[in-house]
Order: sequence, then C-alpha cells, then structure tokens
Amino acid sequence: MKIQLLPSSFGASGAASGRQHLSCVVIDNCVALDAGSLAFATSKAQKKQIRDVVLTHAHLDHIAGLPLFIDDLFETLTEPIIVHASETAIETLKQNVFNGKIYPNFAELENKNGTVLKFHPIKNGENLVVKHLTFKAVAVNHGVASHGYIISEGATKIAVSGDTAETVEFWLNLNKEKTLRAILIECAFPDELEKLARAAHHLTPTRLRAEIKKYTGAPCPFFVFNIKPAYFQAVSRQIEALKIENLRILEVGKIYEWN
Ligand SMILES: [Zn+2]
Repeated sequence: MKIQLLPSSFGASGAASGRQHLSCVVIDNCVALDAGSLAFATSKAQKKQIRDVVLTHAHLDHIAGLPLFIDDLFETLTEPIIVHASETAIETLKQNVFNGKIYPNFAELENKNGTVLKFHPIKNGENLVVKHLTFKAVAVNHGVASHGYIISEGATKIAVSGDTAETVEFWLNLNKEKTLRAILIECAFPDELEKLARAAHHLTPTRLRAEIKKYTGAPCPFFVFNIKPAYFQAVSRQIEALKIENLRILEVGKIYEWN
C-alpha cells in the first residue's frame, strides 16, 4: 500500500511547501481519503485513476478540491466519481456545496457517458470495500459527524484518525488489530492554543501524547498530520520535545509504502 499526503501550498520559490492548508491522502494512486487538494495537487495518473473519494468529514479543508476535481474531469468521465461519506457529511455537501449556488449539483448533471457524481453513505463500524482496499469506518470526536478509518490491503493495515479531539472508539478498534503498519494522527494546534483546540475539537501535542498512550497494540510508527499551517513550526517543535520514539511528522508529498 502506497500513500501520499498531497501538498496544498507554495513556498517563496513557487515550489510546493510542507504547510498543509488542505487535507487529501491518495492511496495507491487510485483512491482519495479526503479531497482538500484533490483538484490542485493530483498528478495526471492520479486524475485518471481516482474515481472514489472517501471522506472523514465535510469541513472545508477536507472537501475544497472535490467540486473542482469533478468540474475538471466533467467531459472525460466514463464512470461517476463516488463520494463515500457519512449520511450527515453527504447531506452537508448537498445542502452547502452542490446546491446550485456555491457550485452546480453535479449529482443531477450528466455528461455524454452518464452520471458524473454519486454519493454512497457509510455507517460507523462498516467495512467499505473500494477497489482493492477495505476502509473500516470508526467514529471520532470532532464536533461534526466524523470518521477515522482502518485501511487494509490484505494483511497490510494502516489507521488514519482524520480530525479529532480526545477519542475512545478509534483506539478501541485499533487495539483489536494484530498489526498496524502506521497510524496517522492529527495535531492541529500548539499547546499555547489549548482553549482554541478544545473549542475546535482538535489535539495539541500534550493531548496527542495522552492519546498515543491509549494505543496498546504492537509497536508501529505514528505520523502526525493535519497541522494548521500557521502553527506548523510551533507544533513541530513541541512534538519533537515529547521525545516519543516512533512519532514523527508525515511529510507532505512523500510517498510511503508498506507491503
Ligand atoms: Zn475538521
């Protein structure tokens, strides 16, 4: 299984930077987990192959690239883009994005080959099969309906928290797994913004440390992602200061592979 966190911002030289405004992880070049930078940062091959988008939740930084991705591909699609998400997230998208005001209702539009957008509701605890991958949806605590996922390709499994504050069910599910190759976990704000982090249902490095302690499974690397770009340096410093073995920041753009 290969994963790549797509870039979403640019440095002074114009090259992609590590600051992560938007969240989109592409798996095996063919399935997108969240769609923040889906339209902006996907390669040609990814644009050609990604027809399934699995959402953790419907916050803007996780869906911003979805309407534009469908727009870009509208004429050429020979099969619909399928958005797999909780019923609540789908309703949020229908009411607030694909509503004919913010953007067209692509689910009702067709190109010469037929439908271009379909929604597929998924329930907490469900095993969703997408291509050669299985996504087990696990509820997390983010103030709006949100799923983390345990993603498997045969015996190779990783877990992704999506956005979350302190959470229980996610860890209970992870602890049932024999082996996980990686756990991607959010840490949006630095410790000094503890109050804001709590209000927004996000973690800080200190609270991330407490979350990691809930994991009792076989040792595996933790990768931090979904760090607010304005606080990237501060969060990175504080995570380093935790001195937790196997805890590092997920590098934007880098391809990680597990067999
Ligand atoms: Zn969020």
